[in-house]
Amino acid sequence: MAPILIVGASLAGLSALDALRAAGHDGEVIVVDAAPELPSDRPPLSKQVLAGTMEPEAAHQPLANRLAELDAEIRFSTAATALDAATRTVSLADGTEITAEGIVLAMGASPRRLPGGELAGVHVVRTLADSLALRRDLGASPNRVAVIGAGFIGAEVAATCRGLGLEVTMIEAAPVPMVRVLPSAIGGFVADVHRDHGVDVRLGVGVSGLLADGDRVRGVELADGSVVDADVVVVGIGVVPSVDWLEGSGVPVGNGITCDETCLAAPGIVAAGDVAEWFNPHFGERMRVEQWEHAIEHGAAAGRRLLAGDDGEPFGSVPWFWSDQYDRKLQMAGRPAADDEVVILDGTVEERRFVAGFRRGDRCTGVLGVNRPRHAIQARMRLVESLDWAPIQDLFT
Ligand SMILES: Cc1cc2nc3c(=O)[nH]c(=O)nc-3n(C[C@H](O)[C@H](O)[C@H](O)COP(=O)(O)OP(=O)(O)OC[C@H]3O[C@@H](n4cnc5c(N)ncnc54)[C@H](O)[C@@H]3O)c2cc1C
Repeated sequence: MAPILIVGASLAGLSALDALRAAGHDGEVIVVDAAPELPSDRPPLSKQVLAGTMEPEAAHQPLANRLAELDAEIRFSTAATALDAATRTVSLADGTEITAEGIVLAMGASPRRLPGGELAGVHVVRTLADSLALRRDLGASPNRVAVIGAGFIGAEVAATCRGLGLEVTMIEAAPVPMVRVLPSAIGGFVADVHRDHGVDVRLGVGVSGLLADGDRVRGVELADGSVVDADVVVVGIGVVPSVDWLEGSGVPVGNGITCDETCLAAPGIVAAGDVAEWFNPHFGERMRVEQWEHAIEHGAAAGRRLLAGDDGEPFGSVPWFWSDQYDRKLQMAGRPAADDEVVILDGTVEERRFVAGFRRGDRCTGVLGVNRPRHAIQARMRLVESLDWAPIQDLFT
């Protein structure tokens, strides 16, 4: 029998492998990854590894220790370069081809960059090498760090830099931070937390370019004509799903790989994690989620789907993420839209310790807990049962 091929040996890909073995698949599985070694777990890269409080070796993939028992052939430095979905044949960068019984596409995403991104002192944070390179530059006592983008990675990097005692300016084109995950009405709280800690927060202003002194960055020019002098610049302006190589493959690509509600992209081909958009039946909408727990659950669902033939089960989920910024832990369940109503269910925003519910009509689209872990987890469990607003409100009365 032909092997199952998994493209991407990170969270979603290895989780798919785990699920295949757990479901009793004892056939050959080959995993290929473009990276030269097992990618590290990513959350510590903007937090503990960057701060120097976790050794890089400790940032293992959650499944790294179990890989041997999962019994797969893993080929590193082996990018997939082309796919023929009709025959399920994948071409690899080493010139070989694999025709597979089933394929899991789990290539994640790569950071968006700015012109000038090649200048010394300009960084993105996606891989262990990125995090260590930034850490080296931070260790050279820069006068100021400019963080472009106040999404969750930019906000975490800004917090880590302040923890190292560095001067930080955080620049965001949107009127509030974390616009892609939080309703606008609550995002201002994130800006306030950063201001409390001495970050110079610039909101509602884009970047027109990076300024250089020779081959080294010396600042950021903003769209309003002002300049932020900075000898280290971190670009956190989102990611692009790694789908370039799928052009002409027969696998549908839009906002990432387009899957049905069972994770299926084409017959015998599934996709999961940051790279995959699917119809989430629990929310009744299509979504692509760039979050750690989602990559694990989605990968597992995709692995099971490959073995299910025509009886694939829908993958319904409540996305969940956390973000650590200073002494605040943000935990969020759900998928709110920017204009959803914000209802404070517990605590106060002023104390920086609260639970906020996000509401659209009779529906709860998400719950954010700030230093409220028990409440956030309880709310998450309610949302898994139903997205009705009333049971969430009841939880806090
Ligand atoms: C710095 C950082 C901090 C984060 N912190 C948090 C957090 O606190 N909370 C949270 O919920 N989420 C967090 N995340 C998000 C979370 O880590 C990601 O959602 C998760 O890693 C996605 O896993 P994935 O397997 O889909 O993709 P990835 O981890 O991106 O892995 C994709 C793999 O595919 C490989 N690949 C790509 N193209 C090819 C190809 N053509 N051929 C072969 N291999 C290929 C890549 O080399 C890579 O190893 C963070 C992410 C980053 C970058």
